[in-house]
Amino acid sequence: MPSTPFANAVRQLEKAAEAIDLNPGILAVLKNPIRILQVSIPVEMDDGKTKVFSGYRVQHNDSRGPTKGGIRYHPKADLGEVKALAMLMTWKCSLMNIPYGGAKGGIIVDPKKLSHRELERLTRGYVQGLNGFIGPNRDIPAPDVYTNPQIMAWIMDESSRMLGYNVPGIVTGKPVEIGGSLGRHYATAQGGIDVLDEVCGLKGVKCDRNSRVVIQGFGNAGSFSAKILYQKGYKVVSVSDSQGGIYNPKGLNPSEVEVYKKEHGTVVGFPGTKKINNKQILELPCDILIPAALDNQITQANAGKIKAKIILELANGAISPEADEKLAKRNIMFIPDILSNAGGVTVSYFEWVQNLQQFYWDEKEVLQRLKKVMQAAFRQTYETAQLHKTNLRMAAYILAVSRVAEAMKLRGH
Ligand code: NAD
Repeated sequence: MPSTPFANAVRQLEKAAEAIDLNPGILAVLKNPIRILQVSIPVEMDDGKTKVFSGYRVQHNDSRGPTKGGIRYHPKADLGEVKALAMLMTWKCSLMNIPYGGAKGGIIVDPKKLSHRELERLTRGYVQGLNGFIGPNRDIPAPDVYTNPQIMAWIMDESSRMLGYNVPGIVTGKPVEIGGSLGRHYATAQGGIDVLDEVCGLKGVKCDRNSRVVIQGFGNAGSFSAKILYQKGYKVVSVSDSQGGIYNPKGLNPSEVEVYKKEHGTVVGFPGTKKINNKQILELPCDILIPAALDNQITQANAGKIKAKIILELANGAISPEADEKLAKRNIMFIPDILSNAGGVTVSYFEWVQNLQQFYWDEKEVLQRLKKVMQAAFRQTYETAQLHKTNLRMAAYILAVSRVAEAMKLRGH
């Protein structure tokens, strides 16, 4: 079998299916998305010429509720990857026990090469192509790679124009002014740290506020994690971005690093630190390692060199399947992506709930509810791991796939 993202996603599903002796008919259904839509989007460019872009929306499974998942704008977006990510969303929503199935969308485009107006026309064209396919009770998009709250605002507006009334619940990750949720912009980091708090509370886990933390990536997930952990008293000793990393064993103040990055375009060069590269950062002496940038960072090649005791996998797919086995053998606890980074989709769910009831919560309420969902998901995953004598990733899949299978059985699929 080739090692494509979709083939890997199916392999992971098969492993979980084997562990729970899943009905072969249900497995066969879960291996494929229930619906795929491909759209051609003609866009009038600023020079008056027309360009046609290709876009997709994949709905993997809707047994537990309407499908949910982000939209990415990327020159290398492809259907196989979108299918894999849609399946991952089914498991993530199921694991968090929120009433959604999984979906994902993508447009093949380099958004950095488009003007603001061209990007708006592209987004509105995509929404027109998705007419009838998405909706607050059907399929709810959100931001992903290279899409942002402004793009979500256009999606909401175009959908509302087509329907003739406001439909804020058709998309999440919107600006707060038009129905976005407070706390959404740092929910992924916050949710990951809520899980980390649970891990640190486990018997036998050595992790306290003096623990040294290393974070690869200083974007949304990485920089908010760094700031929240620093505020909690942890010692953040290293962070990085695409240009490299910085290291100070005595600790860094992430808010100061952020100011430096705004001025210089990178964290590299921050006073009092040693420059390291993005490979070295993963192997630094530390207690907690947080990959928060790219996939496939901890692999068979470097899993034996990791010194952290706990890995919080905030970036999707940061640890390869082969590395999972090596880390488990070395007793390094890794908290899988579908659990660690599920704070984002959880607060997206809260945003949708607030939109549907037209009643908005304050930030404290959002954070309290987020913590409750993350704590429950971690505890259930941990108990499943103990029961099946397996690692947390396998346990998360077992739980997630079982819940979807149960919903399918009950509905008679
Ligand atoms: P982002 O674009 O805000 O930040 C990415 C960071 O990675 C940047 O600091 C960038 O400089 C750095 N980077 C890029 N190339 C790198 C390289 N070669 N080596 C090291 N660092 C590099 O993205 P984000 O939203 O923070 O997402 C990061 C990861 O978290 C992704 O895998 C994403 O899928 C996952 N994730 C994010 C969210 C969210 O809500 N932001 C939710 C779920 C999962």
